[in-house]
Amino acid sequence: MGRSLTVFIYTDYPSESLDTDVIIERLGGFGISAQSRGDLFEFLGNSDIRHRIAGMLARSGIADIENPLNVLPADNEAQAYLELRKMSGLESVRGGFYDGLWMQRILHGAIAGKNPRETGRGYIHMIFTGRLFGTYDGRRYHARVILAGSPALISTSGLVEAPAKPREYYFIKGGLLRSGRDVSELDIMYKGRYVEYDDPRISAILSSYALQAVYYELTGGEFCGNAGCCLYNSHWQEEVLKVQYEGSICEKCLEAFKEAG
Ligand SMILES: [Zn+2]
Repeated sequence: MGRSLTVFIYTDYPSESLDTDVIIERLGGFGISAQSRGDLFEFLGNSDIRHRIAGMLARSGIADIENPLNVLPADNEAQAYLELRKMSGLESVRGGFYDGLWMQRILHGAIAGKNPRETGRGYIHMIFTGRLFGTYDGRRYHARVILAGSPALISTSGLVEAPAKPREYYFIKGGLLRSGRDVSELDIMYKGRYVEYDDPRISAILSSYALQAVYYELTGGEFCGNAGCCLYNSHWQEEVLKVQYEGSICEKCLEAFKEAG
């Protein structure tokens, strides 16, 4: 017998191919109850709150990928206005690059402020966003698919941008660019071997990342070292399309869910 878990799922203009019902069903298969709360910023409430969050999100954008954002810069009204438009769907959320840890802090504060009783153990808030975020590794920022924690952030843009495409893709692309040729045919050649923005496989793949966010809450462990397990930290698109898409879970990780469920 373990403790009960409730997962709340929010969206922030993720890929239109994402169907959160698929995620909810997948978590349900592990005895984890999940429910959708729809659009994150609509859920969070009134325009004062939205303005405040927009201001902070604007400041959490990464200006230089080689410099960590230790302190948020000063207010920038134009950027804040742009964020507000993104939060309302008037502007695409794609295109920016955010510091994931700052995003997480800001959104944690906002969610806890809305429903203080739903913070802490037993509750997992999971945000599926179209925003691209990254974390700093000591040298530079790297885009991420997921940042587990409270809330867990999962990016449909990160899924496209973070895991690397096949090695030869970059090799051939470099050659084409150097000789001044069109690279669009290359994308056609490699179609299916990496995830695209409107990829129909996105819901199945992100179900594995949703499980990973739960696994982190249950065990404190981030990824599984087994390259055949859907909680494996895939660095290549081809790994994502195998382990996360197929969704097999190893015995050890399955045990962790059983004990908790
Ligand atoms: Zn595993």
